[in-house]
Amino acid sequence: PQPNPQAGAAVKAADRAHVFHSWSAQELIDPLAVAGAEGSYFWDYDGNRYLDFTSGLVYTNIGYQHPKVVAAIQEQAATLTTFAPAFAVESRSEAARLIAERTPGDLDKIFFTNGGADAIEHAVRMARIHTGRPKVLTAYRSYHGGTQQAVNMTGDPRRWASDSGTAGVVHFWAPFLYRSRFYAETEQQECERALEHLETTIAFEGPGTIAAIVLETIPGTAGIMVPPRGYLAGVRDLCDRYGIVFVLDEVMAGFGRTGEWFAADLFEVTPDLMTFAKGVNSGYVPLGGVAISGEIAETFGKRPYPGGLTYSGHPLACAAAVATIKLMAEEGVVANASVVGAQVVEPGLRALAERHPSVGEVRGVGMFWALELVKNRETREPLVPYNAAGEANAPMAAFAAAAKAHGLWPFVNMNRTHVVPPCTLTEAEAKEGLAALDAALSMADEYTE
Ligand code: PLP
Repeated sequence: PQPNPQAGAAVKAADRAHVFHSWSAQELIDPLAVAGAEGSYFWDYDGNRYLDFTSGLVYTNIGYQHPKVVAAIQEQAATLTTFAPAFAVESRSEAARLIAERTPGDLDKIFFTNGGADAIEHAVRMARIHTGRPKVLTAYRSYHGGTQQAVNMTGDPRRWASDSGTAGVVHFWAPFLYRSRFYAETEQQECERALEHLETTIAFEGPGTIAAIVLETIPGTAGIMVPPRGYLAGVRDLCDRYGIVFVLDEVMAGFGRTGEWFAADLFEVTPDLMTFAKGVNSGYVPLGGVAISGEIAETFGKRPYPGGLTYSGHPLACAAAVATIKLMAEEGVVANASVVGAQVVEPGLRALAERHPSVGEVRGVGMFWALELVKNRETREPLVPYNAAGEANAPMAAFAAAAKAHGLWPFVNMNRTHVVPPCTLTEAEAKEGLAALDAALSMADEYTE
């Protein structure tokens, strides 16, 4: 595409005048004006093209502008752009069927929402009514969304500003061996001690007060900590013993990200409720939802479910989901995440870790990877302090700037960079991204001791 800096300047000026951005001090941000995107790349108005290792906010699992989904949206728009949620509509029925076919166990009923946070809101509401209990247990080092209940369930600093203490949430520590809260030295110790900690938390909170335990199957924004074998099965067991609803949040980890349709498939666990969004239609039109077990669906068999949304199961979003799921199956997108992840991305990242002292740990699976950047590999001191801003965050800012200068758009959160490209990433694109990361990590190395 031809550069057009004038058009870019107009887009930017209107943004700066009128758009109020998420999670930001409005005067301190400088959003890039984007002119277009296709596949794994996007470009600005000045002629710069970037390989997107963020998949937007980890949601464009099929890349940008996939022609089959664009066509399905156009066709649905021409046929029936919208229709109220109380009616049976073809694209909604079909999306629910395709999702239910893929969700584990008997999660066969789908409640559609507009995104991930409201999926979490509704999962919690279902669990509370199903159990008649008030509280929810969630992990520190988690993200569940920006609405009041979901942000209070979140275990990162984004909660603090909205924490009224009235959301009925109790946080616990999930396993994370690299920064173990349990003085564990092996994955097995971490697993056993994290389960023991959770059971003690349940005992002291009072099992009869706990409606749900909500976990990201693999925590995403908080650092892509793949849980040790046996952990999620152990949580499933605790939930069964204490009559607690087990909710897995697959908003980020679902729909191919881990090289399986759902991360739950990696661990062979079936929750009672599963939330999804993002990858369900690669975010081409906003859509999320809750997959519901037979038992919980039955609670609302004769008794009305007290919740709903004007756009629940929006036909345009559902048509995008139908096309996305079908093409992911036809084109082997989930298998691609697994194969390119295991054969190119993982070995490439491990080779970078050997060369760069700033890389403390490489962890992940499929197209879902984190590099933990450290000042010192021995002490594991993070490259920047927890929740650093301004000057204290300079090393990560320098890393990100170096990546961009090499044509790579990186995902950066605290002292980590996440490698979360589209699940359609080719081997050549993976190698291009790894080479840019190599250069950017040399910048990070300069801040090591
Ligand atoms: N849950 C998880 C695991 C997420 O990663 C996110 C978003 O990043 C959400 C929930 C919230 O989703 P949304 O931003 O669509 O509300």
